Amino acid sequence: MFKVLGVDHIGIAVSDLKETGSFWTEALGLECTGEEVVAEQKVKTSFNPTPNGSEIELLEATADDSPIAKFIAKNNGRGGIQHIALRVDDIEAAIADLQAKGVRMIDTKPRYGAGGASIAFVHPKSSYGVLVELCQHK
Ligand code: ZN
Repeated sequence: MFKVLGVDHIGIAVSDLKETGSFWTEALGLECTGEEVVAEQKVKTSFNPTPNGSEIELLEATADDSPIAKFIAKNNGRGGIQHIALRVDDIEAAIADLQAKGVRMIDTKPRYGAGGASIAFVHPKSSYGVLVELCQHK
């Protein structure tokens, strides 16, 4: 058994981290607490936490075949919400439990996510078109 603990972050695809990031930091007053290149996912990400602990995660492609580049191309060149991440208490139990319930997983084993979290994506066919990331922080 596992539990969803809350919305960990919302992943937003952007074409330019610096330009679009200023909306979140300057207009909304969030603090950008860091950037990280996640080579495996071909993205550069920035973290913009809100006071309740949920974060806005901005994602810029670092290669033409990045999932973020594909998302923006499919979205007529515009960015937008690419995924929603739910924090879980036990990611391995979550993957096993969801699979037992017939939910299709993109990741059947946890993998490395930005900020050092363990993450796994649910296949959007099983979540009615929404790309859902499960994540567990150590
Ligand atoms: Zn994410």
